[in-house]
Amino acid sequence: MPYFVIIILFLCFQQVSFSQDSMPAVPVVCYLSEQNSFTEIPAQEFISASGRLAATSNIEVTYIDFPEQVKTSFEYAVAIWERYLISTQTIRIKATWSKTVVSTVLAETGATRIYRNSASIPNLPYANVWYPAPLAEALSGKDLNSADFEMTVTLNANINWYLGTDAKAQAGKFDIITVLLHEIAHGLGFSSSMSVNDTQGLYGQSGSAYVFDIFIQDSKKVKLTNSGVYGNPSTDLKTSLISNALYFGLKNPAFANNLPRLYAPSPFKSGSSFSHFDESTYTVGTANSLMSPSVRAAEVNHTPGDLLLNCLNEIGWQINGLNGYIVTDVENIPEQTFEVLVFPNPVEDRVNVAFPLQTQPRAIKIDLLNNQGKALQSIEKQGVKVETISVDISSLNEGIYFLRVLDGQKVLIKKIVR
Ligand SMILES: [Zn+2]
Repeated sequence: MPYFVIIILFLCFQQVSFSQDSMPAVPVVCYLSEQNSFTEIPAQEFISASGRLAATSNIEVTYIDFPEQVKTSFEYAVAIWERYLISTQTIRIKATWSKTVVSTVLAETGATRIYRNSASIPNLPYANVWYPAPLAEALSGKDLNSADFEMTVTLNANINWYLGTDAKAQAGKFDIITVLLHEIAHGLGFSSSMSVNDTQGLYGQSGSAYVFDIFIQDSKKVKLTNSGVYGNPSTDLKTSLISNALYFGLKNPAFANNLPRLYAPSPFKSGSSFSHFDESTYTVGTANSLMSPSVRAAEVNHTPGDLLLNCLNEIGWQINGLNGYIVTDVENIPEQTFEVLVFPNPVEDRVNVAFPLQTQPRAIKIDLLNNQGKALQSIEKQGVKVETISVDISSLNEGIYFLRVLDGQKVLIKKIVR
């Protein structure tokens, strides 16, 4: 074989092995509805019993062609998300003020890239599943793209925007804070890869579903990514995708009888179906309406809502104020308010142990025990401020196991099911 052929083959192989761990994501398209809703939901007061909640993440926006006034509104929306998300990694957004977006579209948003669990990114809870860049970085505690953007937001410059931050509904105007809160949620991972063609439904990129996809289930609680029931592609999948009866399978039993209902209209709306909550279930002006598919004129909603926050938590985000996490002041953290999170449970291949942020570095240890109390694996680290550690249990038989987690001086025993 000639030398140059070997080099070309080598380069091709390199390209393939690179693309298996990360690739560009597909953005979500969000449409407007000109009907005025005249509803106002102000931002949550970021105050808990122990004080005002601090920003627990950092979002940096690079503005392309933005008027100064719009930047101020954008920063206000970003500051709201910074108080819900917990991440040590800066989320970099490339925001474009575009005059060429179709007139019925408010915005398009997506992660720049998606990442799969691999030797270099071992902290992603589910194997063979794509994670959006901001979440992959939050879970791994690493900058995965050399300070490149994690998210792109393209806003339609021709919309009659209301730029105020005072949560006042204005006739005929679209509240930019509401739209930005909605858009950023897509970039954080509220985004499905499910689609349909003439005869079949299908999902995934390069053989893997998006992390959002793996929680979508039908009215019989069968996951659409259950390949024993739904082929990919298949006509059965298409039938479900336009069934108007799809749900996000939150594991928290508090939501067992009230799972978030997704937008699954017939015909399928490309770029819009499933990456939203159902419009008729979560009507304008109600608590969980932020992620409905069409933002209306004079619709103001500056609060993500419990269902959205729980969905983001389920795909892997640590959320301030949710499930025991309350960070009030990053410089002076009251330790008793923290909980170590163990997720997902039941476990498929990897179980994650998320150690909450503390200002003082501490020693942590995780022991994986069988049901006789015998240690099967141990992981120890010193000097941890905040970290999510992933334990691979893919080689274990199905059954009951225990995690013994030491966080500084505190010990937690957690039963897990494989
Ligand atoms: Zn949307």
